[in-house]
Amino acid sequence: MASLLLLFSVGVAQLNGVGTPRIAAHPENKFTRVVIDAPTKPKFSVQVRGKILEMRISPARVVAGSGGGDTAELVSWQLENTGSDALLTLRTTFDLASNRGWKAFIIDPTGDQPNRIVVDLGSSLGVVTTGSKPSVVKPAASKPKAPNKPKLTVVLDPGHGGIDPGMSSAFVVEKSVTLSIALKVRAILQSNNVQVVMTRSGDYAWQGKNCAKRCDLDARANMGSSDRNAFVSIHVNAVPPASAARAQGIATYVFGQSPDAETLAQAERENGGGSTGKALTRQARNLAQDLINDQLAQLNVKFSRRLAGLIQTATINTTGAYNRSVKQAEFWVIMKPRIPSILIEVGFGSHPSEGKNLASDWYRQKLALGIARGILGFLNAN
Ligand SMILES: [Zn+2]
Repeated sequence: MASLLLLFSVGVAQLNGVGTPRIAAHPENKFTRVVIDAPTKPKFSVQVRGKILEMRISPARVVAGSGGGDTAELVSWQLENTGSDALLTLRTTFDLASNRGWKAFIIDPTGDQPNRIVVDLGSSLGVVTTGSKPSVVKPAASKPKAPNKPKLTVVLDPGHGGIDPGMSSAFVVEKSVTLSIALKVRAILQSNNVQVVMTRSGDYAWQGKNCAKRCDLDARANMGSSDRNAFVSIHVNAVPPASAARAQGIATYVFGQSPDAETLAQAERENGGGSTGKALTRQARNLAQDLINDQLAQLNVKFSRRLAGLIQTATINTTGAYNRSVKQAEFWVIMKPRIPSILIEVGFGSHPSEGKNLASDWYRQKLALGIARGILGFLNAN
């Protein structure tokens, strides 16, 4: 998939913090405007892929947050800190391209209004790099310094969120466990100088009007772009009450055809459950069959398997949980990996003792440590 990096240097300044996005629909002109206040003039870069626009604002700190857009153009937004930068992620209802569907610019302070970063989203917009004050934005006006060695970047995908809770039991709700663990993994990776992109950092999903489970899974998968180094999706397993006392342990998955009915049922549940889950799993299963003869895809599966093995071993070591080993299944979110991609089921929320463990902070920390160790081992070896 085409991905594009555009860098506009608009003057370096100390930026203490930027505000929460303000979203305004302009149905008459068929666009949505997102505005963020910035106390001083920032630099920003924009990357688009599919229905995702990512704006890196540098240097900046933000109060992390997220929310729905619910306009004709914007599904949802997320604002988070990544090292010394802030990352604004916008999920749109239509496909973006390098020169179509968006424009971004800065408006100078006026009266009591501070600098404002503006992103307009509309399928008929062309990219315009100058705003109401054309002199403000000059593409690469001051030559950026030679970049340092690029940091390795890992995408962490806390499963489910918002209206989609995932599994729930007397002990846990999946969406909360996955986010809690992912945030702990992020902290460990960042302290090891690894850059982290979260597919979500709050309680929401990438879905809204006209955008259901598949849309949500595609948005997450799209963040695993080829300029990043690994994609790790975190989930909690469950079985029906009749078998709840038996099923426990950790399993790590790569994409492929399920070897048995139990694993297939699990893929269907994680792909949305019900008829949606069945339909997506069937499509993914057909793709898995096609990929068997695709050498590049098989190479990716090989690296994914290595990553899965390291994470599986490390999490078993840190938790002492039952080892369900590395497996393969038709999980949609890792279906078309461009980078090593795995999905870990950190345990069974339905199991009496494992469910209680998953509800506790100390056990989640052990899981996070194992996952982070596995990732770091993989990055260091490749
Ligand atoms: Zn799940």
